[in-house]
Amino acid sequence: MPLLPDGSEKGLRGYAEERGVRRRIGMAPPAREIDRHAPYKRIATEEAWTFPELVKAQVDYLNGPDAPDDASLRMAGMFAGLPRLQAMLTDIGAGRLAHMDEYGIDRQLLLLTAPGVQVVRPGDGTALAREANDRAAESCRKWPNRYSALAAFDPRDVAGSVKEIERAMTTLKLNGAVLNSHFQGRYLDEPAYEPILEALAGHDAALYIHPTAPYNAPHYAARGFFGALAGFPHDVWLHAQGLIFSGAFDRYPNLRLVIGHMGECMPLNLYRFDWMQDNADGVPGLRGGQPAVRLKQPVSYYFLNNIWITTSGVGWEPAIRFCMEVMGPERVLYAMDYPYQQSSDEVAAYDAMAIDPAHKRMLMQENAERVFRLGIS
Ligand code: MN
Repeated sequence: MPLLPDGSEKGLRGYAEERGVRRRIGMAPPAREIDRHAPYKRIATEEAWTFPELVKAQVDYLNGPDAPDDASLRMAGMFAGLPRLQAMLTDIGAGRLAHMDEYGIDRQLLLLTAPGVQVVRPGDGTALAREANDRAAESCRKWPNRYSALAAFDPRDVAGSVKEIERAMTTLKLNGAVLNSHFQGRYLDEPAYEPILEALAGHDAALYIHPTAPYNAPHYAARGFFGALAGFPHDVWLHAQGLIFSGAFDRYPNLRLVIGHMGECMPLNLYRFDWMQDNADGVPGLRGGQPAVRLKQPVSYYFLNNIWITTSGVGWEPAIRFCMEVMGPERVLYAMDYPYQQSSDEVAAYDAMAIDPAHKRMLMQENAERVFRLGIS
């Protein structure tokens, strides 16, 4: 099934083929120069990459006789058919550094792009996660001042994930972990995945939940809305609320969650979440019929203590200022979303934002150093 109703991929080709070009309409920032002497480093915290063996594993499964009905796997197949996008995604060396220099980005945090290893044939994911983490770690070693990386893991292999998170955080010294939201409709709030939460908390690894296309959702595909216009934020919202209402942050007070794309819009709703909490808090049968959990805190508490957000794809001052106000300036981190979204005007717009200079420095640099334990300053 094609991901867009007319069978085309033009929506994606737009930003893949016209790098840095954006029509100046609506909310897009005006043309500006990047400040080459900004009083902060720019650390971009949700920057996508992949490698050919993973793309091949995704495409082979998609085209094989045992292909599942998985919109995320179809999305991987669509990305695989965009050569310029693939060239940018698979370069975690000099080519990417040239783009970073062009945009004034001091450091990228590398995240294995959606849908990652969690859509390949069951049983193949952990080996590919190990390969991904080895490759990312190699780039971090080679360019220690430019790259950091989050660890990939395949949550369908719980024991393998626990081992790989440990190896990534200790031997490879990566900076946290990334999950591309659901895996064939499963979520980390289900009891089977508890050891993964325990490993993340135990190794002080922040978990970044990045979107993917919703599972088994023909109503999204039929409208071409599997992505950022609807499906992506909806799925991460579900994942995050599931984790909160499972009591994960009460069981692991040190568990840290990072959510991109301006917190997938959730900060705007903290008031309503607290108001509606009684509809879900302690109610049996939620989250796939699991037992009732009554949270120790209001929902907003977890957004102010366990959750950080990044601005990936939303270089928009009113939204950033609002999130800083309600969550605190220490909880909002800069991200670009390279190579899916990239614009020198957007980088320059951050420089021009009327934000307290100390908070701007937290946004662009210091929060990332703290959340991902970058060990630099
Ligand atoms: Mn993204």
